[in-house]
Amino acid sequence: MLSVAANPPARHLSGSRVAVLLPLPLAGVYDYRVGEQTLADGDLVAVPLGRREVWGVVWGPGSGGCAEGKLRPVIRRLDARPLPDGVRRFVDWVAGYTLAAPGAVLKMAVSVPAAFAPPRPQAACRLAAPPPALKLTPARRRVLEVAATLPPLAAADLAREAGVGAAVVKGLIAAGALDEIALPPPPLFDPPDSARPGPTLSPEQARAAAALATAVGGGFSVAVLDGVTGSGKTEVYFEAVAAALQAGRQVLVLLPEIALSSQWLGRFAARFGAAPAEWHSELGDARRRDTWRAVAEGQARVVVGARSALFLPFPDLGLIVVDEEHDGAFKQEEGVAYHARDMAVVRARLGGFPIVLASATPSLETLANVQAGRYTRLELPDRHAGASMPAIAIVDLRRTPPPRGRFLSPPLVRAVEDTLAAGEQAMLFLNRRGYAPLTLCRGCGFRLQCPHCTAWLVEHRAHGRLVCHHCGYFSPLPERCPNCEAEASFTACGPGVERIAEEAARLFPAARLAVMASDTVSGPQAAAELIRRVDDHDIDLLVGTQIVAKGYHFPLLTLVGVVDADLGLEGGDLRAGERTHQLLSQVAGRAGRAERPGRVLLQTWQPEHPVMAALVTGDRDTFIAREAECRRVAAMPPYGRLAALVVSGPEAPAVDGFCRRLARSAPVAAGVEVLGPAPAPMALLRGRHRRRFLVKAPRTAPLQTLLRAWLEIEAPPAGVRVQVDVDPYSFF
Ligand code: ADP
Ligand code: ZN
Repeated sequence: MLSVAANPPARHLSGSRVAVLLPLPLAGVYDYRVGEQTLADGDLVAVPLGRREVWGVVWGPGSGGCAEGKLRPVIRRLDARPLPDGVRRFVDWVAGYTLAAPGAVLKMAVSVPAAFAPPRPQAACRLAAPPPALKLTPARRRVLEVAATLPPLAAADLAREAGVGAAVVKGLIAAGALDEIALPPPPLFDPPDSARPGPTLSPEQARAAAALATAVGGGFSVAVLDGVTGSGKTEVYFEAVAAALQAGRQVLVLLPEIALSSQWLGRFAARFGAAPAEWHSELGDARRRDTWRAVAEGQARVVVGARSALFLPFPDLGLIVVDEEHDGAFKQEEGVAYHARDMAVVRARLGGFPIVLASATPSLETLANVQAGRYTRLELPDRHAGASMPAIAIVDLRRTPPPRGRFLSPPLVRAVEDTLAAGEQAMLFLNRRGYAPLTLCRGCGFRLQCPHCTAWLVEHRAHGRLVCHHCGYFSPLPERCPNCEAEASFTACGPGVERIAEEAARLFPAARLAVMASDTVSGPQAAAELIRRVDDHDIDLLVGTQIVAKGYHFPLLTLVGVVDADLGLEGGDLRAGERTHQLLSQVAGRAGRAERPGRVLLQTWQPEHPVMAALVTGDRDTFIAREAECRRVAAMPPYGRLAALVVSGPEAPAVDGFCRRLARSAPVAAGVEVLGPAPAPMALLRGRHRRRFLVKAPRTAPLQTLLRAWLEIEAPPAGVRVQVDVDPYSFF
């Protein structure tokens, strides 16, 4: 068993200088003087900052940045576990790569300072030794008998077990017959049992599982588990999880939408006999604190989480699995802009352990790494237990359009009817929330727009309001048009899922119908409940956005209808084709996962589009090879590098002025191109005017160094902000 022996952290003696990283969006570390108590790298400390006391992490020896006379002492060491070396190196690496301030990255790693305080111990009673001479009533005798046979219990529990009142126990404590002791709180998570047998694997699955188990015994490696939807990728990587647990290591599984993953959690519990620790934005404060601590103490052995789980303080992480590695949800755009899949690979490399990237449609980035020999591909070409892949067919909207004002074409309507008549389930997919994406005045054509963003307001009939999907602004539908004053003149343009559900309810009145979108299903519990109803066949027809595409396994679901297959192809996004192919493959993959064969109908205006052709023929590799070739010719990612700079502020002239100055000092280097400034497609977002630069560089260019030097030339004026996004995924 190869495990990376951690060097003991460097120690800093009383009186010496240490660098302390504070969880603030500052430039870097600050020097302090070590007090009486020796400190070590990773220690959590309280230090003065101006007139405040803040916490920080000892990051290394002092840098000498502060004059000797001005150096202030560390106030004290906090009674908390030091931040592991692997996490500290990861914070530095992420900051260096994304150009974020290290303090901002540290803040993600130590997101719950409340977890520093040790958990409150629980008081319990046990027999005093030696027992005092005491007159014993029958009640007192019963208590002492119970206390002699059971492990220490809280006073109330002891009274209950003995069937006596609380006063009897209190009396025994007062008389010295029972001692009160402090017990550590019970562990939060039961240990997963890695010895439980998994399902019998098919020969292909067994081969992939064996390769992963071997990788778990070695150092850093990246395996790409590339298997069609329903091929058993989850069962296969569970074997790697079991191997890592057996080796005594912690495991992290990243899922794109953990709040929607009730089925996954159920499968994990069935396989390992215990629930994993969950980490996502819906956790309550107390749970978040306790989970952070359980990870830091090594008590949580398996964590399943959203991208932020990558920054948890695992002392002994030995395996990461990134499921649906192609999913856009792994990219964080706000604050520190990072891609959790890419940073997970870095975390594994720094920690010297393996990582598994699983997907039915791996990203071009990942496939390029396979081709370059950096990642190993493990293939699962077939569905489990002989289930066939769904038959995918096109509905050409030019030939068989829906009736005026409707969105479901005659072939799709017939297919739904047939499916329901056969007692099976159907799903209609449209990746757009709300009732209609655009509302306009019939009289003058006026369009209702968000006052704070370059965006139309989206009607949500279920909530009786118009909503901006970018800033959350909402208002009721105005009674008269603000432009021509016509009354009740507004009309909905185009469909959202609510409108499709309305049409479906009219067409299939007997079907039990449910809508699943992020605004109609609030929180993990509601999602789990809806999933259960689909599982139990309480629902015949599910209408939803991309959240219905996520990994679900519904044996009776045999028809998937994609209402607008062209939707994601709009706009000039570099990855539009790739992303549409991934999303539609994933939705299509919900159909026919068990004995009953499935089929998929794609409504499209462009049946000859390469994405549609690839879906119909199932020839993913040819499609990907073409996409890759286009990117290679254009020197676009993954064959070239991009970084976006968004300059924003409340006043357009200040933003434009600063952009002009930035443009004059743009980096000049071989092969590096700086495009812009140009108004961002969302030229106004949350009331801020936005301009964009795009930096295009060869893979070998020192992109971060160039950007850092550029941004250091001049600080933006008050109110103006520059956001850097290395490897941008959205171009809004
Ligand atoms: P994927 O993640 O590739 O879409 P899953 O792991 O969800 O596939 O597997 C699809 C279904 O088949 C699940 O219900 C899973 O439990 C089942 N399955 C896969 N492999 C096996 C196996 N070897 N034995 C029993 N059931 C399996
Ligand atoms: Zn808005």
